Amino acid sequence: MFNAIMIDKTRAGSRASVRSIDPAKLPEGEITVRVDYSSLNYKDALAITGRGPVVRRFPMIPGIDLAGEILASDDPVHRPGDQVIANGWGLGEEHWGGLSQMARVHGKWLLPRPRGFSARQCMGIGTAGYTAMLCVMALEKGGVTPGDGDIVVTGAGGGVGGIAIALLARLGYRVVAVTGRDSLTDYLRGLGAAEVVGRSALTYTPRPLQSARWSGAIDVAGGKVLAALCASMRPGGVIAACGLAAGMDLPLTVAPFILRGITLRGIDSVMCPREQRMAAWARLERDLDPALVDSICAEITLKQAITTSPQLLAGNIRGRIVVNTREG
Ligand code: NDP
Repeated sequence: MFNAIMIDKTRAGSRASVRSIDPAKLPEGEITVRVDYSSLNYKDALAITGRGPVVRRFPMIPGIDLAGEILASDDPVHRPGDQVIANGWGLGEEHWGGLSQMARVHGKWLLPRPRGFSARQCMGIGTAGYTAMLCVMALEKGGVTPGDGDIVVTGAGGGVGGIAIALLARLGYRVVAVTGRDSLTDYLRGLGAAEVVGRSALTYTPRPLQSARWSGAIDVAGGKVLAALCASMRPGGVIAACGLAAGMDLPLTVAPFILRGITLRGIDSVMCPREQRMAAWARLERDLDPALVDSICAEITLKQAITTSPQLLAGNIRGRIVVNTREG
């Protein structure tokens, strides 16, 4: 038997609890993994609290991330004893995920654990950090260079935002961090932000264009925040948009696209092709200091992942949360 968070459907919606589960119940897949660490992402918190339509079938073990060791494999590429990680691919949404002591998954979902990071550090990075790297790579692909001007990062106090700041600063960009929490100024400067501004710096107005300020942007908020960003990009600016912490809507005009030639690039970490994932993790190994990962992580248990989820959705958590799955 192994322990996992299980989300069951109830009359009122859904309910999450830590349960003891028979390994015979694990879903289909060529590989059985002993999960050592997972992480708590925004999407996991939506699934655990039932506040977003993340879970596609019940009962479901949440957890879009996992790191651990292969116990058994019917896949010639992966051998028992291999240290592996997985992010996305429907884990914790359609397929039992990583907030568990065991998982059964498809071989093509697994990547070898990057040598530069421990299993715990990989989960400290997790989907949030790997998505931050996909965002940075999107800016680079769009031709944004450090000499072009300021890069703005929203949701700076959270997981994607914090790692994006650290990556951009390390690469020589001047980063402006946007946060709803004044108390995080020192923390964000410590990550590498040259300037920290409140959310009101991105006030939405119905005007199609605002004064041109940003060369690049990484946005986790969506909604009016993303609309305000689009209206205040400099000519040729690039936005990597990955989140919806402020909402799903996007009250935009085409003006920033046709008068300033901006690019709005969507980022999807879940179904991102394997080659791109490998490239992102290789870049994380090169550009992200493992000690910085340790410094922004708090560690919790499976049980605490349930109680921490509402806090995360309320925007009260700073940095990243790793879940030590061995602690039931
Ligand atoms: P976190 O909960 O760690 O961080 C989110 C941060 O957003 C908060 O800490 C807060 O930062 C800020 N925030 C919260 N509410 C608002 C609001 N109303 N307006 C503006 N900012 C707000 O989440 P993650 O960093 O893990 O994820 C962020 C978003 O990115 C989520 O929507 C998530 O679903 C999405 N995401 C998407 C991925 C993809 O593949 N597309 C992959 C990973 C994440 P502060 O207090 O500093 O302002």
